Amino acid sequence: MNKLSIRDLDVAGQEVLMRCDFNVPLKNGAITDDSRITGALPSIKLLLEKGAKLVLCSHMGRPKGQVNLEYTLKPVAVRLAEHLGQDVLFAEDTIGEASMSARANLESGQVALIENTRFAEEETTNDATFAKALAGNAEVFVNDAFGTAHRAHASTEGVTHHVSQSAMGLLVEKELEFLDRKLESPESPFAVIIGGKKVSDKIKVIDKLLDKADIMIIGGAMTYTFRKAQGYALGNSLVEDEFVPLAGELMAKAEKNGVKFCLPINTRITQEFSEEAETKCTIKYGDDMNVIPDGWEGVDIGDEAIVEYCEILRGCKTVLWNGPMGVFELDNFAAGTKAVANTLAEIDATVILGGGDSVTAANKFGVGDKVSFLSTGGGSSLALLEGKELPGIVSLTNA
Ligand code: AMP
Repeated sequence: MNKLSIRDLDVAGQEVLMRCDFNVPLKNGAITDDSRITGALPSIKLLLEKGAKLVLCSHMGRPKGQVNLEYTLKPVAVRLAEHLGQDVLFAEDTIGEASMSARANLESGQVALIENTRFAEEETTNDATFAKALAGNAEVFVNDAFGTAHRAHASTEGVTHHVSQSAMGLLVEKELEFLDRKLESPESPFAVIIGGKKVSDKIKVIDKLLDKADIMIIGGAMTYTFRKAQGYALGNSLVEDEFVPLAGELMAKAEKNGVKFCLPINTRITQEFSEEAETKCTIKYGDDMNVIPDGWEGVDIGDEAIVEYCEILRGCKTVLWNGPMGVFELDNFAAGTKAVANTLAEIDATVILGGGDSVTAANKFGVGDKVSFLSTGGGSSLALLEGKELPGIVSLTNA
């Protein structure tokens, strides 16, 4: 995906529309975490330094095509102005008179933010008229919102048909550098760790990466669907029955491709899903098929599995991690995820966290800043890893 970058643009005096991800968490109208705003600053500053008349747009929450001031971007404009140390003009509509007049009056080096794109249902239906109005008089579009790049919306895809050039912002560029380019020819041994609970979300990623990985490590509730395919009884553990046959096929594919396929050799189980619950480790998966008794469920990888997984990871040169090893939100079920996070922070390897809960877990255990890259995309990271084309990226101008 060799796309035009924001760095290549010459935009002095031109109106530039940039799609950001300002979908920040709010509590009683106040921003509780502004990392998405600070994350956008490098691209914003670069365009302002280049002399653009900069118009920013984003979605926030799910207002479902209705104007709902619970999801106004106004607090974002205020916070952004504080970080930039300059005024950020806020337009109280998206493609109406307010935004048109704010945009018409912008000068080089000035910045405006227009209201939540999802206040109009035409955003998510990718309506061409809406997309054209959103592009307005902008000659150039920049997409810096990786998290929505897997959706063909008016502000991610539609708009690119109504400007002369579309480029990726610095955040999108970095996501692609790690999730696409670095994984194209990863340094060996390359291990992929897939955990979490939604087999349906990740099975295609496993399939795709079995063509590239040297080692596939499975954790989380994902495990039980694979163990069921091997014939084990799993008590009350989460199993996605419809994926059991495919799980079996993937293990066969791993063997055919010469990929070392690792399932946890034992499991931490509980009878009660709570912070105070007693837990214990099972026997090793082996000849006895009754590893998890009735009335018990798997909530983490077992202690022996932890030792084995960390040992394997210490020998790797590239690691991609998506999904926790267990229910890491509860301390008594968190040991596996914590051990993997700590090991990944220590090893001398390119370590890429593919979005979602593994990023949350790494930050929870204080190692987020000790790995090579944390992806901000959930669905878009998975789509990219599955080998899908992201509409918000494919539609950008080729470099
Ligand atoms: P996912 O969205 O598929 O990445 O799944 C993440 C969620 O999986 C986290 O909230 C974990 O608590 C949950 N999870 C991981 N392992 C288990 C397990 N063994 N049983 C139930 N939930 C799990």
